[in-house]
Amino acid sequence: MSDIIRLLPDSVANKIAAGEVVQRPASVIKELVENSIDAGASEVHIEVKDAGKTLIRVVDNGKGMSPTDARMAFERHATSKIRNAEDLFTLHSMGFRGEALPSICAISEVEVKTRTEGDTMGTRVEIVGATDAGQKVSQEPCICDKGTIISVKKLFFNVPARRKFLKSDNVELSNIMREFERMALVNNSVRMSIDTGSKRIDLRAGTLKQRIEDIWKNTLNGDQLLPVEVETSLVKIEGFVSRPEFARRRNPLQYLIVNGRVMRHPYFHKAVLSCYEHLIATDTQPCYFLKFTVDPASIDVNISPTKNEIKFEYEQQIWPIIASAVKTTLGKFAAVPSIDFSIDAIPLHPLRDGETPEAPHIDSHPEYNPFSQPPRKPASNNIGSNWDKLYAGFEKSNFNPIPAHNSAEQTPSAEPAPMETQQPVETLQPEETLFGLDVQAADPIPVCMQIASKYIVTSSGIDLMIIDQHRAHLKILYEEYLRMSVNAETVSQRVMFPDTITLDSSQQAALQEVESDLEGFGFMLEYESGNEWSICGIPTGSGKLDAKDVVLRILDSVTDDSANYGKDAAASFSVRERMALIMARSAAVRRGDRLSVKEMESIVAQLFSLPDPSLTPNGNPVFHILTPDAISRLL
Ligand code: ADP
Ligand code: MG
Repeated sequence: MSDIIRLLPDSVANKIAAGEVVQRPASVIKELVENSIDAGASEVHIEVKDAGKTLIRVVDNGKGMSPTDARMAFERHATSKIRNAEDLFTLHSMGFRGEALPSICAISEVEVKTRTEGDTMGTRVEIVGATDAGQKVSQEPCICDKGTIISVKKLFFNVPARRKFLKSDNVELSNIMREFERMALVNNSVRMSIDTGSKRIDLRAGTLKQRIEDIWKNTLNGDQLLPVEVETSLVKIEGFVSRPEFARRRNPLQYLIVNGRVMRHPYFHKAVLSCYEHLIATDTQPCYFLKFTVDPASIDVNISPTKNEIKFEYEQQIWPIIASAVKTTLGKFAAVPSIDFSIDAIPLHPLRDGETPEAPHIDSHPEYNPFSQPPRKPASNNIGSNWDKLYAGFEKSNFNPIPAHNSAEQTPSAEPAPMETQQPVETLQPEETLFGLDVQAADPIPVCMQIASKYIVTSSGIDLMIIDQHRAHLKILYEEYLRMSVNAETVSQRVMFPDTITLDSSQQAALQEVESDLEGFGFMLEYESGNEWSICGIPTGSGKLDAKDVVLRILDSVTDDSANYGKDAAASFSVRERMALIMARSAAVRRGDRLSVKEMESIVAQLFSLPDPSLTPNGNPVFHILTPDAISRLL
């Protein structure tokens, strides 16, 4: 048999590499800007046309390239950043694989103009992507400023499959803006600007704090931040964390920067969050911007081609350093919640001469005897242990999953009672309803009890069933919202006093993308001025749902933002499914909410009329069944 192994032509190898390095326009921008930073630029300007599909141009005032280097730069594995294997372990630059430029060239048309300080003439190199005929390269002298201008045109023109894979301009733009924010944050001492045609941002060179304020000026200001600083032999950590009172329910800004690169590191993320335990509500998270400087030999950034994950050699040792630094900061700045004596002081009326104090009066029912109530009928035993049989009759129950009044009418009693004051087992009287759930008795009713304000405990007659109240309600609402939007049954109602929301540029791009879907769910937005929109219509009967929060969350979910620790595993959800999930999360009863017996019964009934009640949309279990066998093993 003849030999069959062949070396791939460079054009093919580069296209394959491009698939790893360049996923979308934002990744091209990232690679180009990193090169500019490595070249020592103090100014980097980015220009983008059609969300980067037509043109991406990065202009810097860095050290530039000689005519030979300008051409060499596009060769595979051509890099000025390492010379030998040892250099790999002492690397302080962003790039080192020499892959970015050849990869970008393989899938676009690239033009470079560059000049070094010492040269009087610059060089212009033009490379028309790898077509089957191979690359066409031309080079000539040109007049240009010191520094480098790289223009990337017609991205993916020769890879139709990848071009098709690109999202709409709005989503790609939104990704570009997120990437820009990340790079601007890391390189605060570099002046950075971006012009996307619809949006122009120019950030002055400044301190980290100024940069944070400049980037997120719409939603954050410096007073919300506390400085963190620590230096040990292993790591230097500096940056800012937010005061606990500014913890966010939505879109917390969380950045770990390691040796000049934004990195995902779930373990250190947890280290920071652990410092806020008991200081902030459980459904909120702090913002943080922490820069780590470590010996490059002690980390490995090479574990993913896009270099946004990292492995530390001394992870275990760094955790307590982070934790103590953040805790020290929170303690030093008395960021721990304290009692504010200036407001809500108890009014004291000292007795004047001659006045007699009034005895306190207690209202009680003299005839009341807690033991004289008729016992509840026990659940009949002949039903069998299958929940689907047991709850078959419940499907008739007319539970309306959307509480039939809007949030503005919420009474204070809808607030969950504080956890500490509650007994382990408590239920409201059957006729009371806290959530306005429209309930109708179904017969026979299994006994429902609420435990720890979190779980509904009921029985199938034989088995014991423990239901997570939040997940159960979330599942019910999710299915309902989705069904209504698919059947175009959702009706919008105008609100009297619309909420105003401020959208950053990436959210504005997202809004254009999903506006019609939002309308499909009953949300109407009107442009006000500047960066402000008002939410003038909300879904009818959306109850507890916090419209402002939901709309913002939906907009943020549009951006495929992997820096958010992939909380949702959102990639597998369609836009509508994500929306339904976000709405359901907002409107569902929470852990900590007290439920009346009727409300619990109606949740149970509704849950078990769903085709698959056992898992939430995210795949979390909704209930747990304890069989008599399992119980006997416990006892
Ligand atoms: P890497 O950054 O991993 O070295 P690249 O393909 O991104 O690989 O770049 C190849 C080389 O081209 C770099 O090592 C650098 O010498 C040069 N280069 C790229 N962009 C610039 C720039 N903006 N200014 C100066 N030199 C650059
Ligand atoms: Mg590079």
